[in-house]
Amino acid sequence: MVLTDPKIQSEDRSLDLTLRPQVWAEYIGQEAVKKNLKILIQAAQERGEPIEHLLFYGPAGLGKTTLAHLIAKELRTQMKVTSGPAIERVGDLASILTNLSAGDILFIDEAHRLNKLIEEILYPALESRSLDIVIGKGPSARTIQLDLPPFTLVAATTRIALLSSPLRSRFSGGTFRLDFYSEEEIKKIIERSAKILGIEIDNGAIEEIAKRSRFTPRVANRLLKRARDFAQVEKAALLNKDFAVRALELLEIDLAGLENTDRMILETIISKFGGGPVGLSTLAAATSEEKETIEEVYEPYLMQLGFIERTPRGRVATRRAYEHLGRPRPAESSFLA
Ligand code: ADP
Repeated sequence: MVLTDPKIQSEDRSLDLTLRPQVWAEYIGQEAVKKNLKILIQAAQERGEPIEHLLFYGPAGLGKTTLAHLIAKELRTQMKVTSGPAIERVGDLASILTNLSAGDILFIDEAHRLNKLIEEILYPALESRSLDIVIGKGPSARTIQLDLPPFTLVAATTRIALLSSPLRSRFSGGTFRLDFYSEEEIKKIIERSAKILGIEIDNGAIEEIAKRSRFTPRVANRLLKRARDFAQVEKAALLNKDFAVRALELLEIDLAGLENTDRMILETIISKFGGGPVGLSTLAAATSEEKETIEEVYEPYLMQLGFIERTPRGRVATRRAYEHLGRPRPAESSFLA
């Protein structure tokens, strides 16, 4: 199954392209990751070698793809982009790898969706830059070995736990976690995006959008655009706090940045399962959402807010979740610490 993230619609994709930071200075936040990458790049450049393979992980929309583009730009090299589910057959991978030029970056998004067979072909390609392909079947089958040019794999995943450990160990350049952004950082991103899109916006509106952006740049950009549309339809020249609030209310995004589905997940845990614990599969069935969507799209933010906790026996709604939804709280003792 190919999971399509409901949060990444095609409109978001074109917005991503327009607003993608083009130089390091425009890439806000993630300071530790940036620092490490800059050293890695400089050292490799001084040695005249390609950088070693890198893995980025963290929730969708935090800037993993953007980082890969920035690295390619800094190295003045080409980047070929593909994704785990797009590489179905060995031939797909062989054709991608044999079309690389020396120094190229190969970016594989959703790396946790690479199938095992593909992974196994990838190992020698990453380690010794050789591609072993079996041609033919049965007794006449033979293996040919192709040498590959020196290249760098940059992989991204929202689910690092699903990556096999042999694959994980191949990222000799480093594995970097991207964290949710602070509200201040999101405000800067909104300010920059508004400039690029030619939106007149005041600080009140920036703050309002930032607060409800799930600490995620992609969401911030999407909400900015929605609020701009709203102000435009109302024939307002300036996007101010009032328009931002009204636009966000229309989208049913609350003050904590929760959307309908987030609230429905919390309500379900509270109403149908007494606040939990409830197993993921049961929760998915009760909310009619895919298990993967809950885990990849909704849960990371709900956990970041401290609204749900994962326990060995399942998901639990916390005291904060009850407070946020204005639900009466069960006895204190039933809450986790
Ligand atoms: P991911 O690959 O993690 O899903 P992307 O790299 O596609 O995320 O980022 C989504 C969009 O969010 C980008 O196109 C860009 O406009 C914006 N963005 C992401 N990270 C940053 C950042 N650090 N500073 C400014 N904008 C960012």
